[in-house]
Amino acid sequence: MPAQIGVTGLAVMGANLARNFARNGYTVALHNRSVAKTDALLAAHGDEGDFIRTETLEELVANLESPRRVMIMVKAGGPVDSVIDQLVPLLDEGDIIIDGGNSHYTDTRRREAALAEKGLHFVGVGVSGGEEGALLGPSIMPGGSAESYKALGPLLEKISAKADDGTPCCAWISTDGAGHFVKMVHNGIEYADMQVIGEAYDLLRSAAGLEPAAQAEIFSQWNEGELSSFLIEITAEVLGHVDAATGKPLVDVIQDSAGQKGTGRWTVQSGLDMGSPVSAIAESVFARSLSSQREIRAVGQQVLAGETTEVTLPENFVEDVRQALFASKLVSYAQGLDMLTSAAGEYGWELKLDEIAGLWREGCIIRAALLKDIMAAYKGDAQPANLLFTPAFSEAIAKALPAWRRVVAIAVQLGIPAPVFSSSLAYYDGLRRDRLPAALTQGLRDFFGAHTYRRTDKEGTFHTLWSGDR
Ligand code: NAP
Repeated sequence: MPAQIGVTGLAVMGANLARNFARNGYTVALHNRSVAKTDALLAAHGDEGDFIRTETLEELVANLESPRRVMIMVKAGGPVDSVIDQLVPLLDEGDIIIDGGNSHYTDTRRREAALAEKGLHFVGVGVSGGEEGALLGPSIMPGGSAESYKALGPLLEKISAKADDGTPCCAWISTDGAGHFVKMVHNGIEYADMQVIGEAYDLLRSAAGLEPAAQAEIFSQWNEGELSSFLIEITAEVLGHVDAATGKPLVDVIQDSAGQKGTGRWTVQSGLDMGSPVSAIAESVFARSLSSQREIRAVGQQVLAGETTEVTLPENFVEDVRQALFASKLVSYAQGLDMLTSAAGEYGWELKLDEIAGLWREGCIIRAALLKDIMAAYKGDAQPANLLFTPAFSEAIAKALPAWRRVVAIAVQLGIPAPVFSSSLAYYDGLRRDRLPAALTQGLRDFFGAHTYRRTDKEGTFHTLWSGDR
C-alpha cells in the first residue's frame, strides 16, 4: 500500500512527527540523508505503525499516493532549499511539499511562489510543542494554498493536539508564509511569557527573600487561577528541583545566561519592519542578550553604582507581583496579536485571530487558560483594534493596574531590572495617553531635517522656519 505521507529528515522532530502519523493510522514513508537515522527509528519504534523504509528521495517519492505529500523536517535554512531542489524533478503537478521546520516566513513566501510556478504546492507549517508535542500532538499552523489544505489538513488535524472541547489545534492560517509567520509570533510571545515569569521570580526572591522552594509553592498556586498555563506549571517544577550533586536549588546552579535560537529575534525584526510596537518581545530578546554578556556584566558589578531606595514592601506583595505578571503577560499577547493584524494588512492574509488563539490552547508552549478568553475577544465580525480594548481585558487590566504600578516602582527603587513589567506598563500608558511627546519629536525632526509635521487644527503638512539665523 502506498504511503499517505512521506517524511524526510528524521532527527528528533521529524522522527516524532513520523511516529505520530503512524500511531494515527497513516502509512508513513521514511527518509533521512544518512540512512542510519532511518534504521535507528525503525529499530526503536518500527512496531508502532505502518512505516516504509526508503534510502533515497526517488524511493521516497515512488512510495507515496497521489497527490504526494512530502514533509521536510531538515535543518532550517539552506538544507530546506537543497531538499526542495532534489524533490522538484521527482514530483508531479498538484503534489505537496510541506516544510514543518522553523523556517523564516520570507523564505516560505519565496519558496511557495517559486514552486507555484511549477504547479507544485508548497506549505510552510509552524509546528509548536517541541519534541514531546511532535509525538503526542503539537499545535500546528499551516500556511500555503487553501487547495493544498484540502489534501493535507485532515492528516495534520488528526495528529494535532486537541483542545478540551475536542477541536484540533490545527487550522489553515492563510496563504504562503502565514503559518510560519504565526508560529514565529507564537515564539515571540513565548519569549515574553518566560521573561515576565523570570521577572516575577527575581522580585519575589530579591525583594521579598522568597527561596525557590517557597516560590515553587507560590507558582503552583498561581497555576490554579487566571495565570494557569504550561509555563507557570513547569516554573513550579523547575524552582522545586534540587541539584543532586550540591543539594542546592538547581536554579542556583544553572548559569544565568539565556540562549536563543532566533525566532524571538525574527519577531522583533519583523515588528520593526512593520512598525508594530512589540516592546515586550523586544525587551525579552534584549534581556537574554544582556544575560549572555557575562564578561561585561562582571565588570559592571565592579564599576557601576547601585544605590537604591529603602522600600517597605506592601503586605500583599506576592499578590501584587502576580497581578503585575498577569498584566504584563496580557500586554505581550496584545502586542503579538496586534502584529498579526499588521501582517495581515501587509501581506493580504485573512488571519482569524480567534482561530489562531484557539489553536494555541493545547500542544504548544504558550498554552494557557487565558487563550479561551482571547478567542472569545476576537469572535464575531467586530474585531477589536487591540486585545486590551475588549471589555473583559480592559477590566482585567484595570483591576491589576494599582498592583502593577506598585511593583514596577518597587523594582526601580530596589534596582531590580524588570524590563518587560516596566515597558509593558509604559506601552499601556502610551495607549491611553491623550497627548504623547511625539509632538515634540516632530518639531525636532522638522527643525533639523525639514521633515514637516501635521497640525491638530488644520489639514496638510507644515514646515516652520525655526530660527532666522540658521
Ligand atoms: P535539526 O537538528 O534541525 O536537523 C537535523 C536533520 O536535518 C537531520 O535529519 C539531518 O540529516 C538533516 N539535514 C541537515 N542538513 C541537511 C541537508 N543539507 N540535506 C538533507 N538533510 C539535512 O532537526 P530537528 O531538531 O528535528 O528540527 C527540525 C526542524 O524543526 C528545524 O527547522 C527546527 O528548527 C524545527 N523545530 C525544532 C524543534 C525542537 O524542539 N527541536 C521544535 C520546533 C521546530 P542527517 O541525519 O543526515 O545529518
